[in-house]
Amino acid sequence: MRIESMSTAELQKLAADVAVELRRRALSRRCEWCGSSFVPKSAKGRFCSPRCRVAAHRNLLPGELTSRARWVRWSAAKVPLTVDGDPAKANDASTWTTYENAKASAAGVGVGFVLNGDGIACIDVDDCITDGAVDDRVWDLIDATEGVFMVEISPSGNGVHIWHHGAAGKGSRRLENGLKVERYSKGRYVTVTGRRLGNHG
Ligand SMILES: [Zn+2]
Repeated sequence: MRIESMSTAELQKLAADVAVELRRRALSRRCEWCGSSFVPKSAKGRFCSPRCRVAAHRNLLPGELTSRARWVRWSAAKVPLTVDGDPAKANDASTWTTYENAKASAAGVGVGFVLNGDGIACIDVDDCITDGAVDDRVWDLIDATEGVFMVEISPSGNGVHIWHHGAAGKGSRRLENGLKVERYSKGRYVTVTGRRLGNHG
């Protein structure tokens, strides 16, 4: 509805809604585990949910990833590897393994997770952390993304991975709001560092 055509009562209602929203935003903060915005029940609240608090204290990766046997290793050149150091493929489940096995392996330099279109997706934002400061537009992107369950710093230290629940679709790589954004949901692996973005914004 256009503001010019609103009645006084409607305008008052709109003003009240805006006040409530501004107050909510002023009180909201970032969950130190999943990165989503929430309004804490107390001034010391650090996590959006009991689930995130428990996960943070155990320093676990989210079950969305660790419960699936879709893990690989990766080399310094970002080539996906099996736990034995052979080439791994995003379209060959025989080259993947459990999180425990991948973590225990010494092949390559880190662990990665294969996206296969089952509803786990990742947004990769490059060059968005400068001297430890996260670009404000990244927080906007996190808020605009449904089903976020982990936000982590990429291996380079300059980028962010926004892990979330999302329908399978074609990947994309483009500038979004001036950010270098890549969206993936299937047919590739993504590095996993577990280094939380936390409250650094
Ligand atoms: Zn959370």
